Amino acid sequence: MTCKGCFKNIGSGMYCSKCKSEMFAGVNVKPLSFDKEEFYKAHTEMADRLSISGVQDKISLKLSGDKLEPTANDGKYILKPVPASNNLRHKEDIAANEHVSMQISKQIFGINTADSALIPFKDGELAYITKRFDYAKDGTKLDQEDFASVLEYTEDSKGRSYKYESSYEEVANAIKKYVPAAQFTLEDFYLRIVFNYLIANGDAHLKNFSLYRPENRKDYALTPSYDLVHTRYHVNETEGDMGLDLFKNTDTRSYGALGFYSLEDFEEFARMIELPEKRLVKVFKKIITSMPKVTEMVERSFLSDSGKEAYLDSYQNRLKQRLLYVIGESYAYDSVLLPIVESVLEDL
Ligand SMILES: [Zn+2]
Repeated sequence: MTCKGCFKNIGSGMYCSKCKSEMFAGVNVKPLSFDKEEFYKAHTEMADRLSISGVQDKISLKLSGDKLEPTANDGKYILKPVPASNNLRHKEDIAANEHVSMQISKQIFGINTADSALIPFKDGELAYITKRFDYAKDGTKLDQEDFASVLEYTEDSKGRSYKYESSYEEVANAIKKYVPAAQFTLEDFYLRIVFNYLIANGDAHLKNFSLYRPENRKDYALTPSYDLVHTRYHVNETEGDMGLDLFKNTDTRSYGALGFYSLEDFEEFARMIELPEKRLVKVFKKIITSMPKVTEMVERSFLSDSGKEAYLDSYQNRLKQRLLYVIGESYAYDSVLLPIVESVLEDL
C-alpha cells in the first residue's frame, strides 16, 4: 500500500503514522461518508456562508471523532474534489496533480508547504484534502493577508484579472517592507517562484502568496505554500509565465529574444533581491539534483499513467529547456550559474 499523504510504503490503512499525526491529530480517519454528488449539494448549500474563495469547488470539513464532516464554521480542512467544470482537460487527474505538486514542494524542495493528502469519497474516488494553517492551536484565527490585499490590488483598482496584474518583483518588495530580517524569506520566496516555474503553475498569482502572523509571534512571515498545481496539464495557456511576470518593468535581453524566462532572468531576479551568490548556487544545486527524486515521486503518485508521463515531460522540459537554458554567445552576460549548468546539463 502507498500512504495517501507522503507516498511511503505502508502495510495497511490509508496513511502512515507520520501523516496521520500531521494531518489528522493521530486519528484513524474513515473515508468520507458522502460521495461527490452529495459534496456538490453540500457545497451549494454552504457556498454563501463560506469565506473561502477561488474557482475550484471546495468545502470546509471538521474532524469529529474519526469522521470528517462538512461544516460552515470552524472547518480545519479544505476538501477539493475533481471539479464539476467542463472547461478543464484531464480533470480526473486534478486532485492527484495538486497532491503530488504539494508533496514535491514539501518533501523534495523543502519549502514550507501546507499539509495535504488524498482521501476517498464513499464510492472510492479520491479527493484532495489540505489542513488549514491559519488557526492557532486554541482555535483562534491567525492574522493573514494575501499579496493582492498587501499590495492593495483590487478589482476596482486593477480590473477583473487584478490578481494577475502584478509581478514577483513587487511581491519581493512588499516582503522587504513588511517582513523583518527579510533575507531568509526572500530566499524562500525565490525557491517558491522557481518551483512554480518548474511545475508550470499558471496560477501562482497574488492571492496564492500570503503573509501571516504565526502563532506566538508578533512579526509577519510567508504562510506555507498552497494551491500548487501543474495547471498547464488542465488548461491551454501561453507558455512562459507563472501567473505573474518576474519583473515589474524591464525584461532581460534573453527574455526579449526568447519570449520565455531562462537562466539569465532567474539570475537577474536573484541579484535584484540581493540573494548572495553562494546561496544562489546552493539553490540551483538543489534544483538540479532534484530531477531523479521528482521522477520517483511522480511515479509513486496517484496520477493516471498518462498524467504521470505528462507531468514528468513538462517538468523535464521546464528544467532543461527553460530554467537552465542559456541563450547563445552573442547575448553573453555575467553568469554565476553557467559553469554549474554546463557541467550537469548532459546528465539530466
Ligand atoms: Zn505518509
